[in-house]
Amino acid sequence: MESMHLQPFTFEGVPNERPLVIAGPCSAESEAQMVETAMQLSALGIKIFRAGIWKPRTRPGSFEGYGSIALPWMKSVKDATGMLTATEVANVKHVYEALKAGIDILWIGARTSANPFAVQEIADALRGVDVPVLVKNPVNPDLELWIGAIERLYLAGVTRLAAGHRGFSTFEKIAYRNDPNWQIPIELRRRIPNIPLIVDPSHICGSRNTLFEITQKAMDLNYDGIIIESHINPDAAMSDAKQQLTPKDLGELLGRLIIRKEYIENGSMVTIEELRSQIDKIDDKIVELFEKRMQIAEEIGKIKRENNIAVLQTKRWDQIITNRVNQGKQKGLSEHFIETVFRAIHEESINHQTQIMNQNQTVKTD
Ligand code: PEP
Ligand code: MN
Repeated sequence: MESMHLQPFTFEGVPNERPLVIAGPCSAESEAQMVETAMQLSALGIKIFRAGIWKPRTRPGSFEGYGSIALPWMKSVKDATGMLTATEVANVKHVYEALKAGIDILWIGARTSANPFAVQEIADALRGVDVPVLVKNPVNPDLELWIGAIERLYLAGVTRLAAGHRGFSTFEKIAYRNDPNWQIPIELRRRIPNIPLIVDPSHICGSRNTLFEITQKAMDLNYDGIIIESHINPDAAMSDAKQQLTPKDLGELLGRLIIRKEYIENGSMVTIEELRSQIDKIDDKIVELFEKRMQIAEEIGKIKRENNIAVLQTKRWDQIITNRVNQGKQKGLSEHFIETVFRAIHEESINHQTQIMNQNQTVKTD
């Protein structure tokens, strides 16, 4: 698809500065909980309030949100604080009800953005409506699916779009509830350069103690905003209790964040440019070395073809990986990095060799 012409993800009455902060409870639990939380968040200078009205839960039996009866509580938040309000929509009915109730920002949750039919229905319902939409990444680490969801909305005429990074499900136990897989949002921004990127540390972390490091990392990667869960009494929350912060703790977290600029106005940019040109030269050499390595692999391929030897020799591959992982360790390079790089190189070598093996294949008739 051609490049997207997005409108800025900015709002009247909300200072246009990084980071844009959207905060509020995971779920709308009562009018009092909402208004009290909102008053405390508003006192911190936060201008956009989030709360889940309809909650898609992984397993049945958990609290699934109060649904439509909670929509007027959003209005009470607006009346009490002047904050803008945001909620999740997962189907057409949610869209209509949220718009009717005057919700200012909609978001598409991770379980919904994984489903093109659902996203398309929401997109169709939003045709001709000027409402900003935050598209969270799908639960699975699939960049194309995420981009696809954003495109479906864009093609329906929604141009105030942002991407929400809430991490990706994994089967393995990891340090976080969802794997941040930072390279996916980074690649998303390379593909859609002007899309605002909003981190959702709550759903990445799953617990309070890692929220700061994930939020700071996102700021270091030049994210535009934060959507974070905050509850007046987190331990008693009806959903996602472990990851919610009191407004006071949220204020403390935000206060500790170091917000870096993307560009520097003074002389140190020159130094960075110089260092970047050194990196470009190194990258040049790396690609040339790859080319040379593949040429040699092709030579080996010819010999293997003439002698009818299999392309893959497990022992040799084992040796390459073990040696390089050890060498990498001595040079401060992680095992994961070396393995990933050499696996990719090896795969490319095998592809080159396979091509050679399949060239000039003559069928012997004698
Ligand atoms: C939420 O924001 O409360 C939520 C359900 O998020 P996600 O879709 O990222 O799981
Ligand atoms: Mn939640």
